Amino acid sequence: MAIAFDKAARYFLLADFIAGFRVGMKYFLKPKVTVNYPHEKGPLSPRFRGEHALRRYPNGEERCIACKLCEAICPAQAITIEAEPREDGSRRTTRYDIDMTKCIYCGFCQEACPVDAIVEGPNFEFATETREELFYNKDKLLANGDRWEREIARNIEMDAPYR
Ligand code: SF4
Ligand code: SF4
Repeated sequence: MAIAFDKAARYFLLADFIAGFRVGMKYFLKPKVTVNYPHEKGPLSPRFRGEHALRRYPNGEERCIACKLCEAICPAQAITIEAEPREDGSRRTTRYDIDMTKCIYCGFCQEACPVDAIVEGPNFEFATETREELFYNKDKLLANGDRWEREIARNIEMDAPYR
């Protein structure tokens, strides 16, 4: 009785091994479904909502006209803006902060902006070691805009026919 049981157990072990080996070989020979991140990255939609950026016009002037629509619409109350008129009469922000720890990446700020100034760009690699680093100010947001302008402009152009 014990010998028969032992034989049956061995048979099932072998059958399991063969079944597992088959599955392993099947996927070993198939194209990989994963990418070797961070050396390889998958494609991103032009509508991807990543890290925020404030954009400039090609002449370097800030796009933002301090209308505060983005601040008003933000459901997380993550945006804080202060503004005053310049000597030339144009209205510009003196403070533009986003608390990225509050942001829920809804994209409403971008949707509300009449001049495509505040956008959620393609950057998703902005993890930080401290909470304080996620309190973005205007300089940081403008620097993001300068860094990602080419990709942001291309994404807006690609998405334009669907808006
Ligand atoms: S993406 Fe949404 S939550 Fe984040 S700052 Fe913009 S409006 Fe606020
Ligand atoms: S980023 Fe756009 S919506 Fe926000 S204050 Fe500036 S112009 Fe207005």
